[in-house]
Amino acid sequence: MNLIAVDGPGGAGKSTVSRKLAERLGWLHLDTGAYYRAATLAALRAGVDLEDEDEVLEVVKLLRLRQEHGLMLLNGEAVSEEIRSAEVTAAASTVAAHGRVRAVIVRQQRQWVAGQKQPVVVEGRDIGTVVFPAAELKIWLEASESERVRRRAEETGQPEEEVEGDLARRDHADASRAASPSRPAADAIRLDTTNLGVEAVVARIVQMLPVDEVFRPPV
Ligand code: C5P
Repeated sequence: MNLIAVDGPGGAGKSTVSRKLAERLGWLHLDTGAYYRAATLAALRAGVDLEDEDEVLEVVKLLRLRQEHGLMLLNGEAVSEEIRSAEVTAAASTVAAHGRVRAVIVRQQRQWVAGQKQPVVVEGRDIGTVVFPAAELKIWLEASESERVRRRAEETGQPEEEVEGDLARRDHADASRAASPSRPAADAIRLDTTNLGVEAVVARIVQMLPVDEVFRPPV
């Protein structure tokens, strides 16, 4: 097995779970949301109209996006902190809705995975459906809306009322866009994490793996 796809809406636990899972298995982890955030940061810096696909594409097609040791690199610059700002977070769904922009970003995500010797846990929203549709294991994480809001508020330190609108807006935009809408693949295993801690979710996923994957010696 070379790849596990972990998809789902915001606050369902994708990042925490996929990082812990990769750590537990000794696999690499790829955060594809960080690519869209880095592309958004570049478009904001360039001052282009984010709604205009041609303008955004002109910026994004010149970018070198990669992840190294858990850091997101934009043309070699570490931007992991900057891409978590409220401004980038709010704008990312607009950039991610453009199909031709996605194609450029997806190509770089696939290249990154192809260049690794170790297997990878890839988290995102379209991994099981579009980026790696042949993934042997696809997980769709979900949780009740109130729990997702609670978690996001805890993570960002913002009040729940503020988080609620933003999360709902982003989820709606991601799920209803024409290009690669965020949805579970037909063969994804759905896991409701509302009442489960991170360790319990990771343990459930590990149980789905063949035993030789769980004890595979490190490369
Ligand atoms: O996961 P994260 O919140 O960092 O993702 C930021 C945004 O990037 C999402 O709201 C979504 O619009 C976009 N995204 C995407 N496809 C992915 C990962 C993220 O469209 N595979």
